[in-house]
Amino acid sequence: MLAGAAVWLGFDMALSREQIIQERSALAVQQSQFMSQWFGTTVVAADYVLRDVLEKVTADEVNSSVGNKDEIQRVCPWLAKKISTVPGAIGLGLYDAECIYRLVADTTKIGLKSNLSFCASSPVMTENRAYTQYLPAIKSASKVPTIAVTRPRISSEGHFLGGALAAFHIGEFQRWIQSFPLGDHDVLALADSDAMIVAHNPPTSANFEKRIISLEELPNFGRQRSSASLIAVSPLDGRTRVYGVSKVENIPLLCIVGFDLHDSLHEWRRRAWQFGGGFLGMLLLYTLALREHLLTLRQWDDMRDLAATDPLTGVANRRQLVLCGEKEMARSRRYQGHISLLMVDIDRFKSINDLWGHATGDRVIQAVADAMVAITRGQDVVGRLGGEEFLLILAETDGVGALANAERLRETIQDMVSVTSDDNQIVRFTVSVGVTTSAPDDATFADMLGRADRALYAAKNCGRNQVVGVWPETCARNVA
Ligand code: GH3
Ligand code: MG
Ligand code: MG
Repeated sequence: MLAGAAVWLGFDMALSREQIIQERSALAVQQSQFMSQWFGTTVVAADYVLRDVLEKVTADEVNSSVGNKDEIQRVCPWLAKKISTVPGAIGLGLYDAECIYRLVADTTKIGLKSNLSFCASSPVMTENRAYTQYLPAIKSASKVPTIAVTRPRISSEGHFLGGALAAFHIGEFQRWIQSFPLGDHDVLALADSDAMIVAHNPPTSANFEKRIISLEELPNFGRQRSSASLIAVSPLDGRTRVYGVSKVENIPLLCIVGFDLHDSLHEWRRRAWQFGGGFLGMLLLYTLALREHLLTLRQWDDMRDLAATDPLTGVANRRQLVLCGEKEMARSRRYQGHISLLMVDIDRFKSINDLWGHATGDRVIQAVADAMVAITRGQDVVGRLGGEEFLLILAETDGVGALANAERLRETIQDMVSVTSDDNQIVRFTVSVGVTTSAPDDATFADMLGRADRALYAAKNCGRNQVVGVWPETCARNVA
């Protein structure tokens, strides 16, 4: 039962652990999707401004603004006003076909060459759509880590004519993701398409531009699916987290939410300890109870043996002899068989005690008991009736068999059994045996005992070291 409970408990705990991890994964994915949607709307807002700017300021106007202070005075403040409508944006500018900024909200950036990735190729290969790029501090025109949203200007013949760019200071995003309350070891991060950290909560500048997770663990991510979850060990702090990763639509940015696995399983661990401890406690109590039970059973066994055994000889005592005799009688009646009794008394035992001492007398009593045990079969019972008197209950034995057994016992004791006295003398002795067998008229075992006692008395009277049988009336003829 306990083993079954242990298996069930283990299975249940493993299942609930799996369930917690799945729930945390789903929540991480959900939160990363929410983050990515927010970024999506920010970029759409920026792109809206870029389209407007590209429409209002032509490529020719951009090119002709070089050295044209009036044009710069006219357009640049307007650009600054425009960009102030996009939350988090810090800069707005128009660049020419050489990727050089010509009209910029912050006029100090005029004349700088853009570090946009497509500007590095020649000829410039772009499509007519919004591009988003993360520019680390060294590449950024404003010398701070920046996310650039840009829209190239493509002529009707498909030529690159320059474009417009809105810049977001990464600090804005950092502030934004920092505004979310987080668990002790949980993380929120914004990463570029290579999973390089762009913004991170909790903020640790050392983490920037490091890889937060390995995207190889997410096959097909970004192609067939835009959200995924994974369990990974962070290369930043070595903690295992359940991550939810979502790609921002049309932007090479990833929103990452990581829940610390150890913390997530805190409640589960507490329950596991509670259950495990409870189970061990139960096991301990069960073991103690079992031990106590076995001990009691053993004590009962010992007590029963003690209550049934004669302490000097180790054979049955009088009480046990009577119980066994009654049982054997009932059995022999059921199967219409016979039982016989041998009542054995040591001859002139008082003189042995007197001559050799009480201890030698005890040894004589033990020697007679041993001799009687030696002639018994499994179903027979040997016992001490008291003093120097014994009884042997012979199962399924008639008067003839009983007499033969008695004679053999008497002869054996007379010829072969002896004890050594305290002063090393060999002490020999004899026994008298009264024999009887069961009869249908016997009402109780005491009836048989009475006959055996009479037979023993007769044996003593006949001069001791004798075997005498006293038979029930009904079978006296058969035996005589
Ligand atoms: P008989 O041949 O007629 O049986 O004579 P007996 O001396 O054997 O018979 P009696 O009944 O007169 O003596 C029995 C003695 O056994 C008396 C008693 O002191 C002694 N006795 C009884 N129990 C023990 C015992 O446990 N140890 C010893 N050493 N002696 C015992
Ligand atoms: Mg005697
Ligand atoms: Mg006696």
